[in-house]
Amino acid sequence: GNKSINAKLVLLGDVGAGKSSLVLRFVKGQFIEFQESTIGAAFSSQTVAVDDATVKFEIWDTAGQERYHSLAPMYYRGAAAAIIVYDITNQASLERAKKWVQELQSQGNSNMVMALAGNKADLVDSRKVATEEAQAYAQENGLFFMETSAKTATNVNDIFYEIAKRLPRL
Ligand code: GDP
Ligand code: MG
Repeated sequence: GNKSINAKLVLLGDVGAGKSSLVLRFVKGQFIEFQESTIGAAFSSQTVAVDDATVKFEIWDTAGQERYHSLAPMYYRGAAAAIIVYDITNQASLERAKKWVQELQSQGNSNMVMALAGNKADLVDSRKVATEEAQAYAQENGLFFMETSAKTATNVNDIFYEIAKRLPRL
């Protein structure tokens, strides 16, 4: 039969990488050019149907500012999945993403499904991070990887769908 799964999902990554924009695109199908920065964290939910299950994502979109770092464990603790977001036009944001991956690997739950999102893939002329570099990093660290664009909607539903497929079936 068709299973219903509730899955807590957290978005982590540098300020400005596009976490809130990915959530807005996924949940409401919208994009805002001047997205306000997140204070603390924001909650929303969205349901995805995969072949054998209906997955309701309970999404925690975190702020990303260093001053809120101590709050992050509240959001990733008990999370079934995480999307770690960087901006393909900003090399420092990939380095920040790697720090989050390390933190999740040491503090997060051990069977968490982790995705690395190289966002702003529409900004091809400003690209600073090669696809191959991020892909290789993701592979070495057991994450799956997609380049996304919250602006054009490229791979946004897809990354959530791929996570839904990988969640353990209870
Ligand atoms: P957050 O701090 O990680 O939540 O990032 P935001 O979602 O607030 O986005 C930061 C800025 O980048 C905003 O001005 C967004 O409009 C812009 N942005 C987010 N995603 C994309 C994208 O895929 N493409 C482009 N061109 N801009 C984006
Ligand atoms: Mg935000």
